[in-house]
Amino acid sequence: MPDDQQSIAGRTPFPAGGASWDDINAAMDEMVKDDVDWRGGRTPLFVFHATDAAYEVAELGFMKFFSQNALGGSRAFFGLKKMETDLVDFGLGLFNAPADGAGFVSTGGSESIILGVKGARNRARHRQPQTKPYNIVAAYTAHPAFHKAADLMDMEVRRAPAGADGRADVAAMEALIDEQTVMLVGSAPCFPHGVVDPIDELSELAVRRDIWLHVDACVGGYIIPFLQRAGRPVRTFDFIHPGVRSISADLHKFGFCPKPISTLFFRDADDLDRATLKFDEWPNGMFATPTLAGTRAGGAIAGSWAVINHLGLSGYTAVARKLGEMTDKYVAGIEAIDGLHMLAKPDAPIINFATNDFDIFSVAERLDEIGGWLPGLTQNPRGMHAMMSMFHEPVREQYLADLQTAVNQVRGDNKGSSDLEAVY
Ligand SMILES: *Cc1c(COP(=O)(O)O)cnc(C)c1O
Repeated sequence: MPDDQQSIAGRTPFPAGGASWDDINAAMDEMVKDDVDWRGGRTPLFVFHATDAAYEVAELGFMKFFSQNALGGSRAFFGLKKMETDLVDFGLGLFNAPADGAGFVSTGGSESIILGVKGARNRARHRQPQTKPYNIVAAYTAHPAFHKAADLMDMEVRRAPAGADGRADVAAMEALIDEQTVMLVGSAPCFPHGVVDPIDELSELAVRRDIWLHVDACVGGYIIPFLQRAGRPVRTFDFIHPGVRSISADLHKFGFCPKPISTLFFRDADDLDRATLKFDEWPNGMFATPTLAGTRAGGAIAGSWAVINHLGLSGYTAVARKLGEMTDKYVAGIEAIDGLHMLAKPDAPIINFATNDFDIFSVAERLDEIGGWLPGLTQNPRGMHAMMSMFHEPVREQYLADLQTAVNQVRGDNKGSSDLEAVY
């Protein structure tokens, strides 16, 4: 091999090597210098934060199992396997699963959803040979991961308009069901508006029409039970509703666990069995795993186990209470600004607000200019959006003051017109 670098115009060449950590660290600091100030509460999505102590425990737990691979849990890394089993047990209990419920740990909400869809598809095939493509019926507010799943498995997603309160319209969903419908989707809550769909009614529909109901609790699964314990009136969404056959819930969101980690639960262990790939026709013998990923970060499992043991019921309830109170204060502050109104009254720490008087995207643009607040936007209806974390508490007054300034500027500027587009 020649030691000169093969380089492609416009591409970063493969490094010669030998960089010290100090140099690497300095280069990394340089690379992030234009990043949004996420610790300073400037991002309306992407990062979560409970307490500094939980963050530290997450990092220590992660680093302790930095090299271990959860793929080898059953044969080599028994501690990791035990922690993984515990994470599943914790979730099954939290979501009121029956005794023969089952679940597993995945690398994220999208993977959990893809595998939930696979479970529903495999069950449908098990009951009757498939002749035509299957479909999934969801509300307009459901997460795009169902399309990822459908794209992979040659299925179709049919979206029904949501109701005026932002929740799934069960009658509109029922109208889209046909013989090939293998899954109904409810969200707890939906990402755009932070409201929980009427899972009781969806469950009734699912039972009556004999269709699998998946509850996408990716964002809310590990916070709603604690908001309820903190005394907030959030509707139920879990296996207590008999039509619910699977639930996706992300630990790396409001579970405050280190990325990448999510969980998927089935009412019936047979569904997990059918969703698991078991393969023996290759030299190395039986390979059986329910996940898309083979190798999985031991750190994420250990870090999560550490966070859950650290926070526990009391810690999560305390954080949920704080997040709920903070969200209430944001909502009150936003509603106090002339012209702004909430698009939904959130059940979870997710806010979505709009105006009939001026261009809301221009307000978002001004907020970025004034205080470096990364725009969080929704389209149809046009609004501003934020998923709250405890990073947003110290900056609440500042945000609301900047929001008022931005509104004043946009009003003064012919009500504004912005080229911003809503992007996730
Ligand atoms: C985040 C989210 C997902 C997808 O999860 P990833 O971890 O980003 O793959 C799915 N559904 C909802 C409601 C979400 O908020």
